[in-house]
Amino acid sequence: MKTIINSQRLLDSFRELVAIDSPSFGERAMADELTARLKKLGFAVWEDDSARKIHGNAGNLFATLPGKLDMPPLLLCAHMDTVAPALGKRAVAEPDGRVRSAGDTVLGADDLAAVAEILEAVAALEEQKIPHRPVEVLFSVAEEAYCVGASVFDFSVVRAREAYVLDYDGAVGTAANQAPTLLDFTVTVRGKASHAGFAPEKGVSAISAAAQAICRIPAGRVSPEATLNFGTIQGGTATNIVPDACTVRGEIRSLDDGYAFTLLDNLKDTFRQVCQENGAEFEIRERCLFHAYHVPAEAPVARRYRRVCNRLGHAVSFTATFGGSDNNWLAANGIQGIVAASAMHGCHTCGEYTYVQEMAEIAQITAELLCER
Ligand SMILES: [Zn+2]
Repeated sequence: MKTIINSQRLLDSFRELVAIDSPSFGERAMADELTARLKKLGFAVWEDDSARKIHGNAGNLFATLPGKLDMPPLLLCAHMDTVAPALGKRAVAEPDGRVRSAGDTVLGADDLAAVAEILEAVAALEEQKIPHRPVEVLFSVAEEAYCVGASVFDFSVVRAREAYVLDYDGAVGTAANQAPTLLDFTVTVRGKASHAGFAPEKGVSAISAAAQAICRIPAGRVSPEATLNFGTIQGGTATNIVPDACTVRGEIRSLDDGYAFTLLDNLKDTFRQVCQENGAEFEIRERCLFHAYHVPAEAPVARRYRRVCNRLGHAVSFTATFGGSDNNWLAANGIQGIVAASAMHGCHTCGEYTYVQEMAEIAQITAELLCER
């Protein structure tokens, strides 16, 4: 049976959600509203204690709804926070179905379109008494801050082994099945201060040593599967002092987890070598923000998505993304998921927009995924 999506209700609910301020670490009002909406749909809702762990004011919401189909639950995931400028958002609906921000903030279709689509999909199924499988929903906090909300979520409460993360731009039917490991690093090179005019020989320029190292390390797209970027550099205190410290910050992304760490090792070797040559020293701090995953296009979770999209008339394309999402944390916790297009365009800008029609199509796909055997 084909689910009938109520586009007007979907648009109304999207606009209401957009009107709620929900910056990363400040999702309290959104979490309260979504808790109420989920409960109204029949979900049992649990908020975790991540607010305390990540110094936000709301936790991740995890909700479960029983289903009539005797199948394991499916997890639907979206994030509650929106990027800056995030305060005072208003959704402006154009006559052609386009919905944009008022121009002075983001719209928040990333990722509130997905939130509204998930709620509408379940509302339509329940209302039309269409048998669906058990549903689990994860609405995360602080996804835009390198998925820190999902990183502290206790995945042992999740029964689903397959998931659809609705958090991707592009045409309906597009989904990411591959994403990178992301490492960030801070290298501090230490030299020796001296007067630049009277005794430059007695100094060791930390800036010069850092610059030499940076020049020797391949950066940019270092392979088809990996990137390396030096993002910020800071050093020195005055033009007449040989600088005794220089801090370089950057990141590495690689679709191959092991290769990300190889690139990091090479980077360390180069800094070590250059510092030896210059009589400088260095220290490095590194963090792995998330690990890579690759869900094969033949995996059941991907094949189900293809079947449902094709049946509804949408071509499917699986892509590799160079961005992370909550799906990296799902993968790290043994849940196989793909990141599906969720009707967001121009995200992370004030020109962000969506289309009612597209949101309805995604809601429909989501509903059918829950019914598909
Ligand atoms: Zn997003």
